[in-house]
Amino acid sequence: MTTLSPHLIIGVLSLQGGFAEHVSHFVSPSRLGLSSSSVIEVRTPDELALCDALVLPGGESTAIGLIAARQGMLEPLRDWVNVKKKPTWGTCAGLVMLSDKAEGAKEGGQALLGGMDCKVHRNFFGSQMASFEAPLVLKDEAVRKSVLGSRAGDASAAFTGVFIRAPAILEYGNDVEPLVWVAPRLLSDANVPDLSVTSPSSRQSSSEPVLVGARSKHLFVTAFHPELTSDCGFHRFFAETASLKTGKKLLFARDESSTSTSSRQERLPGAPQLDAEIRDKVVSGVQTWMKQ
Ligand code: GLN
Repeated sequence: MTTLSPHLIIGVLSLQGGFAEHVSHFVSPSRLGLSSSSVIEVRTPDELALCDALVLPGGESTAIGLIAARQGMLEPLRDWVNVKKKPTWGTCAGLVMLSDKAEGAKEGGQALLGGMDCKVHRNFFGSQMASFEAPLVLKDEAVRKSVLGSRAGDASAAFTGVFIRAPAILEYGNDVEPLVWVAPRLLSDANVPDLSVTSPSSRQSSSEPVLVGARSKHLFVTAFHPELTSDCGFHRFFAETASLKTGKKLLFARDESSTSTSSRQERLPGAPQLDAEIRDKVVSGVQTWMKQ
């Protein structure tokens, strides 16, 4: 079943976590600049039915699972991912939700949607205190071009990953294509965690790159928070992939009315500097969830 809109409608699951930042990355004129009518917050099965693609935000996978169950959203989401097989992007807690298996899951179990043939560790990089930022290694030139755009040719250009109590992909099946890695211990930044201490997985040596992004058929997952940087490369990557998969065009605000074309230049993504104000806001939000 496809929605009636001729343009791609992207939903952002808005039960808990950093959903507002994702919406803003898709529609803000200084980010991707999609039409605000093509991105919706999703809280109910009816809202989900309006979408062609879905983002599961970062936050807390246990809380998202609990709220989804309480709101009658768990089965519609499972149906969306596993039966309808719609384009879906899970970031951080969203990656945990989409994984078939999660190590370090809540005692007594937690509700996952599954769909991605992989095993994650929920808090691979340690606690909130071990949050860090690091340049990401992208699979190949094609992925670099999709994510970095015109900066892909510059060998020193990199997307900065923001990791907050982040999961990592420990194992994956044949259908999963690894796309993004981080090598925290190769960096000089003193803030990066020492994985030999925090990593629960003895298989992972502390200097080995860790898999933090992958895709499999209609699913795309990232362990970091692209919505907390000023770079919308991964949002463009997901939106373009979903557009190709569904055959529905992206609707940009600049194409909706001639009055908005003048500031087109401003809409191009800037260098991947961290948006400190937004990041601090979300970090304090995460701290609040942890206390709950
Ligand atoms: N580790 C968290 C979880 O299990 C995810 C953290 C995040 O989304 N920043 O949900």
